[in-house]
Amino acid sequence: MRIAIVYNSTEESAKVTKKLRAMLLENNFILDQKNPAIVISVGGDGTLLSAFHRYAHILDSVRFIGVHTGHLGFYTDWREYNIGELIESLKSDNGEYIDYPLLDVEIYYDNKSKPTHFLALNESTIKRVDGTLVCDVYIRDEHFERFRGDGLCVSTPTGSTGYNKSIGGAVLHPRLEALQLTEMASLNNRVFRTLSSPLIIAPDEWIKMRPIETDDFVLSIDQVVTNENKVKELRFKIADERIRFARYQHTHFWNRVEDAFLGAKKRES
Ligand code: NAP
Repeated sequence: MRIAIVYNSTEESAKVTKKLRAMLLENNFILDQKNPAIVISVGGDGTLLSAFHRYAHILDSVRFIGVHTGHLGFYTDWREYNIGELIESLKSDNGEYIDYPLLDVEIYYDNKSKPTHFLALNESTIKRVDGTLVCDVYIRDEHFERFRGDGLCVSTPTGSTGYNKSIGGAVLHPRLEALQLTEMASLNNRVFRTLSSPLIIAPDEWIKMRPIETDDFVLSIDQVVTNENKVKELRFKIADERIRFARYQHTHFWNRVEDAFLGAKKRES
């Protein structure tokens, strides 16, 4: 089995990666960074996001595994102390996986005939930092609202615990096929009005945004941030592609949420 390892720059991750690499080679696995069947990320959720983007072109043939070297992550199941078990699971691998929805983003420009296309694992945001973002929001092709405020975020179910949660979005179980639209500091008064609450769309729906009076804004696709201008329209829908995780052990989603967001507080009381 061909395995790639992606790790972050911490000392702990370098140490765990060294140990993992040695154990994989001892057990006759092939280390292949170019065309792997399994990608192991060593670090946190941010490292798994980087690994996803590095191998997004082979999503239909690759499965991911996250080894975390910090606190319990949302995409990372394994710790240094159970790497031995991970190797045993890889040896008896039967191709099993669990897959989750991704976000498909298309950007149409005034001055280009073809849209630019991205996949996001967590979310995509549009933001203005030097003024108010004004943007028409459509659900399917129907006008829904004119948004004025700092920005908008469209997240996947697995991304709902990331940026989305920090701006008041709901945590979605990743088995749901849904996208969530969340506002950042919307202007609401007698003149300007937005829904002012997170909105979750059905699998067969899509969201369109048309920036108005806004020549430039900041676009994020997971951890990648770019300055955009001359954008005519952005379209967000559930992607045809999905991310696959090799499923050798499973932490219940709500246990992860409890551990990540409530654990220490609960233990104190
Ligand atoms: P970062 O700014 O270095 O770290 C952001 C934090 O978000 C890290 O603690 C990361 O976990 C955590 N995270 C990433 N995906 C998550 C998920 N699905 N559920 C819960 N926590 C998650 O950036 P990064 O590590 O490159 O990650 C990029 C992500 O950061 C974006 O996709 C966005 O979701 C998130 N973000 C959040 C805010 C905010 O909450 N205000 C602002 C910008 C970006 P690890 O420590 O395990 O890596």
